[in-house]
Amino acid sequence: MFNGLFHIREPKNEPVKSHAPGTPERTELKAELQRMLNSPVEVPCIIAGEEVRTGDLVDLVQPHDLSNPLGRYHRASTKEAELAIDAANEAKIAWSEMDWSSRATVILKAAELLAGKYRHTINAATMLNMSKTCHQAEIDAACELIDFWRFNTYFMTQVYDDQPISTQEVLNYMEHRPLEGFVFAISPFNFASIAGNLPTAPALMGNAVVWKPSSTGVLPAYYIMKVLKEAGLPDGVINLVPGPGPAIGPPVLNHTDLGGVHFTGSTHVFSTIWLTIGSDIRKYQSYPRIVGETGGKDFIFAHESADVDILATGLVRGAFEYQGQKCSAASRGYIPDNLWPQLKQRLLDEVAMIRVGDVCDFRNFMNAVIDAAAFKSITGYIDFAKEDPNMEILCGGSYDDSEGYFVQPTVVVSSDPRSKLMCEEIFGPVLTLHVYPQGKFEETMELCNTTSPYALTGAIFAQDRFAIVQATRALRNAAGNFYINDKPTGAVVGQQPFGGSRASGTNDKAGTWINLERWVSPRTIKETYVPPTDFRYPFMGER
Ligand code: NAD
Repeated sequence: MFNGLFHIREPKNEPVKSHAPGTPERTELKAELQRMLNSPVEVPCIIAGEEVRTGDLVDLVQPHDLSNPLGRYHRASTKEAELAIDAANEAKIAWSEMDWSSRATVILKAAELLAGKYRHTINAATMLNMSKTCHQAEIDAACELIDFWRFNTYFMTQVYDDQPISTQEVLNYMEHRPLEGFVFAISPFNFASIAGNLPTAPALMGNAVVWKPSSTGVLPAYYIMKVLKEAGLPDGVINLVPGPGPAIGPPVLNHTDLGGVHFTGSTHVFSTIWLTIGSDIRKYQSYPRIVGETGGKDFIFAHESADVDILATGLVRGAFEYQGQKCSAASRGYIPDNLWPQLKQRLLDEVAMIRVGDVCDFRNFMNAVIDAAAFKSITGYIDFAKEDPNMEILCGGSYDDSEGYFVQPTVVVSSDPRSKLMCEEIFGPVLTLHVYPQGKFEETMELCNTTSPYALTGAIFAQDRFAIVQATRALRNAAGNFYINDKPTGAVVGQQPFGGSRASGTNDKAGTWINLERWVSPRTIKETYVPPTDFRYPFMGER
């Protein structure tokens, strides 16, 4: 037993490396990209620390270069999912009893490894397998995951520090126990940092985890497992089972030992998970904790006083970085008619400058969308806009999947503020704008608030402070992350705690104590120093 009070220092955000021409990180990253392209890997399932090869092999695709896979992964089935549950249950015993500072040390060491020797590996894997530019990979796979790991260990101490009041006669304290059973982490394709955070946040708090990464993001997940292993994570604490959600999900979700679900992905899948658990809630030993951050239909709202240069930059970066495949991507915009002529020209000029192509050509601002299903869905929206008399394609609108899933950045103008493209999550490089009469600011904000079922991110662009105050109030429930004169993407751990409400999720703010609190079940302990020896109270002294 360690006798001493252990403090985790307050972290700072990991600095973002620029990868500008001439920098050492650019040279090293390019070398790592070549190494990965020249040496295909075979990714196993990882259960109880063992590499499990199922023989059911699936290509690790490069969405921008379909003819050159990065290797293959062994797809898990129900059998591996069940083995992973057993491994988690077994590993949980020693892991949860370990001193919290030891668990913290594993995650802090993982952060240092990722910031150092594994930085280019995780960035290259994310670029190639998820089709990200070096900048998008750096802010995600390296910096955000490092931040999650450093900030979570710091916030963990705040959770443990939350103790009740004691008196002179009584000592009260709370033990923040991990959940009973195992946690099921289910990650989306679009952020390696989220993929890494979903299993490690519950593990940090003493839980053991079955982790199902997205089938289109397996390579970064594999390297995250390698980093954690090297950092000293005991076997079985996190078990990697890559495979299709509809096959792996149900047997794990229906297991009576399910203690919690840590999910990020689409609203539809999350509601399916919730329905599966809710369909027979009595079979679990505890009510499973369900945390899910889901879809968005994120907006940029411009007031007549907005600065057009700032607005245009917010729209272009917000809508098209990572091909619009961020849950926070600007997907609809409300533009007052006094600004429209100038903004229209700015958008035409700027979007024309966007290069779309392979991730290894660093001049590209955009790469490919993730897979054939995404390509079909996104281009379906573009085709719909081409046919609809209420919509006009201002720029873009073309696509080509002969070499990779490439969709050109597309701006649509919709005269109908409630058209399909103004309401539904597209998850691709399609920005739909509605031009409103400048005098109808309040009415249009009401439209914005009620148009979509989501409430993830949104932004107001205005110079007029009164308009900013009005919008902040009118759009209070329309976004869990609200931005003023800034794009609605790019939340930084520790600075803009992230999550939305309504159909956008449970809003448990990843990378904060709020999220960590969900992975513990506090036990309150009262100890009385000198307990009473007579059951009678003083008031009973006379009639
Ligand atoms: P998705 O819902 O298709 O898949 C997410 C994960 O769920 C994958 O691992 C998938 O295999 C799994 N899955 C699918 N069916 C399942 C089932 N029946 N049971 C269990 N697991 C199942 O999402 P995606 O396409 O990977 O990611 C994009 C979505 O994620 C978008 O809607 C986006 O808005 C959302 N997202 C939200 C946030 C946020 O913080 N709010 C962050 C990133 C992504």
